[in-house]
Amino acid sequence: MKEEVNFFWIRRDLRLTDNAGLYHALKDNQKVIPVFIFDRNILDKLEGKKDARVQFLHQELLKIKEELRAFGSDLLVEHGFPEEVWTKLLEEHAIKSVYTNEDYEPYARERDGKIRKLLENKGCAFHSYKDHVIFEKDEIVKDNGDPYVVYTPYSKKWLASFTRGMTESFPTEEYFDSFYRFQVDSFPSLEIMGFEPCQVNFPSRDIDVSVVDHYGERRDTPSIKGTSRISMHLRFGTVSIRKVTAIAQQRSSSWLNELIWRNFYQMIIWFFPESATNNFREAYDAVKWRNNEDEFQAWCEGRTGYPIVDAGMRELNKTGFMHNRVRMITASFLAKHLLVDWRWGEAYFASKLLDFELASNVGGWQWASGSGCDAAPYFRVFNPELQTKKFDPELKYIRKWVPEYGTTSYPRPIVEHKIARERALSTYKKALKRD
Ligand code: FAD
Repeated sequence: MKEEVNFFWIRRDLRLTDNAGLYHALKDNQKVIPVFIFDRNILDKLEGKKDARVQFLHQELLKIKEELRAFGSDLLVEHGFPEEVWTKLLEEHAIKSVYTNEDYEPYARERDGKIRKLLENKGCAFHSYKDHVIFEKDEIVKDNGDPYVVYTPYSKKWLASFTRGMTESFPTEEYFDSFYRFQVDSFPSLEIMGFEPCQVNFPSRDIDVSVVDHYGERRDTPSIKGTSRISMHLRFGTVSIRKVTAIAQQRSSSWLNELIWRNFYQMIIWFFPESATNNFREAYDAVKWRNNEDEFQAWCEGRTGYPIVDAGMRELNKTGFMHNRVRMITASFLAKHLLVDWRWGEAYFASKLLDFELASNVGGWQWASGSGCDAAPYFRVFNPELQTKKFDPELKYIRKWVPEYGTTSYPRPIVEHKIARERALSTYKKALKRD
């Protein structure tokens, strides 16, 4: 007879320490087999053979495998469609329960619903835990139970409900004996999955506390390292949100505020999954986008003739990162100056950002276009020149990413600011029927 085991399904939580779902799995009375599935529903949609995010996943999983091997266990890594993989695992093992951590993205919820059913039909339990946020989707809601759609009251309630205990780590390491002892030699290579290795410098997962201490004054200057660059690690769970929040809580209220924004957007995507693709404010459905493909291409490639916009897009294309201030400027430029549907820009960012996170990306784009829950008003059209004067006065950021700026090889502006601003205002006004 097969020995009964539990499984721990790793997804957006690539670490063995301070991991809520793993902690509960290890504390149960069965031995635990950790598994990761390279999900073909996700991978098959990625464009191109070089994707640094897939490489990062691969590299982090190899590290976890090594850690597990050091105490006689191992990591099972599968490549396929989750339903098929779980059907196979159910045939191969006597699985009592599957443990995992919550993921609020619409696709993840649909997938988890199907897997839960599949497992429960075979008499196997499915347990899912809060791990990637401090407050679960519906823990911070209005007194009448409705979700907040405005950030400030949400953040007030978040802060009032927060206690230090919430950042205590889950001591998984005390239970590592509960991992099942086994060894597997198969580990899908990037090539087998249709990818090629690429040259990328991934950001460090160590939090630079001197950056956090000066965050309030330096966060808006894109030419310096004034922000933590921890977003990719929060996305993939290579650092724990509890650890990051504890540092924020002790050292910087403005940095903590950004982590609360992240929690806010996670809550929004859970309550309003359709906002991933639809305008949060329906009135914006009437906006007549120009959607000029050549202009969109110029924006993607950093050739708009607006140096702060071009610098941002080139930083993104080269490194997979873009400073938050510049994300706001480039997004506003696309949705307002060029009147290109924010969904085009959202998709482009999604294909390039190492830290791509559906909830925050959609939140940021809908904020910039005005269509979001708590968004910049439609009449706020960033002036790229003023933004440059304020946030890159010595043109250090611009010169780094647009070296030909100031020479004849730099393109002329794709649109004139004043004309574009007025065109945006009248287009939005018409759609929203305001004067
Ligand atoms: P820090 O400034 O050090 O902030 C710490 C952490 O707080 C970040 O790592 C991030 O997890 C969170 N955070 C900071 N600002 C925001 C914010 N405005 N909204 C939500 N969370 C925030 N962030 C993503 O993680 N993934 C995305 O795909 C993404 N797309 C964006 C698209 C647009 C158009 C805009 C305007 C913003 C987007 N952001 C996104 C938010 C923000 O730009 C990044 O989180 C930030 O630049 C990451 O750098 P950092 O780690 O140095 O952040």
